[in-house]
This record gives sequence, structure tokens and C-alpha cells, in this order.
Amino acid sequence: MDQQTFQALAEEMKQQGVALIAVSKTKPISAIEQLYAWGQRDFGENKVQEMCTKYEQMAKDIHWHQIGHLQTNKVKYIIAFVALIHSVDSFKLLMEIEKQAAKIGRLVPVLLQIHIATEETKFGLDRAELVEILEYATANNNLLKHVQIRGLMGMSSLTENAEQIRSEFKALNDLFTFCKNSYFLNKPSFNTLSMGMSGDYPIAIQEGSNMVRIGSLLFGERH
Ligand SMILES: *Cc1c(COP(=O)(O)O)cnc(C)c1O
Repeated sequence: MDQQTFQALAEEMKQQGVALIAVSKTKPISAIEQLYAWGQRDFGENKVQEMCTKYEQMAKDIHWHQIGHLQTNKVKYIIAFVALIHSVDSFKLLMEIEKQAAKIGRLVPVLLQIHIATEETKFGLDRAELVEILEYATANNNLLKHVQIRGLMGMSSLTENAEQIRSEFKALNDLFTFCKNSYFLNKPSFNTLSMGMSGDYPIAIQEGSNMVRIGSLLFGERH
């Protein structure tokens, strides 16, 4: 994507109050540097090792977003610098983030990843698991002192059917509203709905997304 197209897209997102996360997984440092030069500061990676390497090499005012499945034994490598973990998909992972964040005295923002697609291969909590975690966390208010649950994340099915994608995003937005009203009424920090990628972000924004994760549209196809 050229500079003019990028800046038009970034401006459009800003106008709509949507945060743009540039998904730079598999892409070289040079590609990140180019977007950085054009003003982009939020980048998403799905592999811990790759994110750590890029973090070390890049400017320190970049916000790094962990968007891929995160193994509990790898939390410690990113805990000190990660800006937002989008992919919390188990209670065990949530507690490991709490434990590692406590060690360094940091409050780490996270999103709970919800399974909204039809594919079984995708990660994420279902509604019952989500409710169970939030009930437990609410009942034990000393549990999460170093983790801040900021919202939800989800990925739609890989399909050409726009109405199916729309209904999946709609369901996620409904769940977001339900969580806000049931568990985060006096917590304005629960305010992030991360949904939408290169192929479906316009639908996601129409259905209430305020954070999109865009890779191939910005950087070209991955190989
Ligand atoms: C790769 C990835 C994206 C970006 O996908 P594009 O189709 O290239 O925009 C967004 N979210 C997650 C979780 C990803 O793994």
C-alpha cells in the first residue's frame, strides 16, 4: 500500500474512532519501518519469538499487540513490553499473565478471545466459558490485580458469505454489551472490541468494532 492510501485509511479509522493495528507477522523490519515513518505506532504479531526480535530492533514507542494464540510458558517473554494481549482464551492463561505481571509490578491490558466462527480449528472461549471466568473474577476481586480486562476479540469464519460474517460480528458485539452491563458497569476501561481483518473490517466496523487488525491489505499477501 502506498503512503497516500495508507494515510487515507488511517484517517478514516481515526474519524470513526477505530484503532488500527497493523499486523506485521512474517513481514521484515523494513516493512514495519516504512509504516512507522508514515505515523503508524500499533503493530500486531502472532508469534512470541518474532515479536521479541522485532521489539528489540525497533523504536521503543511502538505498541506491540499479541494477537495469536499464546502458550502459558511464553507469557514471561513479552510481559514487560506487550501493549495489549488480544488472545486470552483460557483461565489458565489469564492467571499466568497475572502471575508474571505481578512479578514485575505491571498492569497488563488484555482482551478475552471469543470463538465466533464455525471452524473448530480457531481458538477462543465460548459464551459459557466466558461467563464462568467473569463470574469467578468478580466473586474474587483480589484475583486480578495486575491484569486489566479491556474487552473482547474475535475472528469471523473464513467464508465469502457476508451475511454470515455480519451475524458473527453482531453476536460478538451483543456479548460485549452483555459483559459490560453485567460485569464492568463502573469500569470505563472495558471499552475495546477487537474485530475485523483485511477481508471483513468494513462489516466489523458497521457491527460495532473499535479496533481492527489489518495485515495483508497494508503489507501485501503473506507467503
Ligand atoms: C493474521 C491475523 C490478522 C490479519 O489478517 P489479514 O487478513 O492479513 O488482515 C488479524 N488477526 C489475527 C488474529 C491474525 O492472526
